This record gives sequence, structure tokens and C-alpha cells, in this order.
Amino acid sequence: MPLFLPDATAETAKRLQQLLMVSSPSIEDYTRDACPHCPDVCCLQKHGCYRERDIIYLNALGAVVPIIDLARPPDSRCQFLGERGCIHPRWLRPFKCTWYFCDPLIRAMAERPGRSTRQLTAVMEEMIRLYDALKG
Ligand code: SF4
Ligand code: SF4
Repeated sequence: MPLFLPDATAETAKRLQQLLMVSSPSIEDYTRDACPHCPDVCCLQKHGCYRERDIIYLNALGAVVPIIDLARPPDSRCQFLGERGCIHPRWLRPFKCTWYFCDPLIRAMAERPGRSTRQLTAVMEEMIRLYDALKG
């Protein structure tokens, strides 16, 4: 059965998708350095699971929600973690995967010139606002 959503939800989801796509290279500027040497990788199965608002967002985009392997232990390596990081584009990942900034990433941001970090922080705030606004 087709899923009919209010226009506002579809517009919010589209805007969030755009910001996730646009900001992904800036975020990867930080993760590229920190993640390959990380002693405590955060990509666990429990973090790769989709929450209700992630599903509302993907449904509003008409995207297929990736199927979660419920047999995998929550603290095991995320099923979507490949040899070169996450196999999914950022806009398709659970939103938690983007808004989580670990201590090494926060330190790396603090060391960068102010303008690029301020821009990314502003975009993150807007993405969080949009994600919070998604409703069923
Ligand atoms: S985001 Fe942080 S905790 Fe996660 S893998 Fe990268 S460096 Fe490690
Ligand atoms: S970024 Fe990708 S691999 Fe990491 S927890 Fe999220 S979905 Fe899994």
C-alpha cells in the first residue's frame, strides 16, 4: 500500500537529505584522519539500526530502508561496515551515525581554522533541527 505523507514531512526529509549530502565531504575531512587508526571503533550493530524517525525520513524520500540483521549481537561490528568505512552514503545511514562526534573528532575540529568548523557546526545544528521535526 502506498504511504502518503504530509508535504511538510517530505520537504523536511528532502532538505535533510540535501544537507547530509553536502556536508558529508566536510565531515570526512575529519573522519579520514581519525577513523583508520581508531582503537575503539564506534560502528557497532546497535548504532547501525534505524530509529523511528530514520524510517519516517527514508519513507518520505521513497528510499528503501536497509534490512537489519537481527541475529547479530548489538555490540558486534556493524553489518554495514566495509573495508573502507560505511558501505552506505551518509544520507542513507541512521542519523545517529552523523551527529555522533567522538572525542578525537571534536579535538580535530578544534584544531581547524574557525570558519570551516563554524560552517559545519551550523549545518549540523540545522540537520538536528530537521531530524527533530520529522513526524509520522
Ligand atoms: S568516529 Fe571516532 S570513535 Fe568512531 S571510528 Fe572514527 S575515530 Fe573512532
Ligand atoms: S556509519 Fe555505517 S557502518 Fe557505522 S554504524 Fe552507521 S551504518 Fe553502521
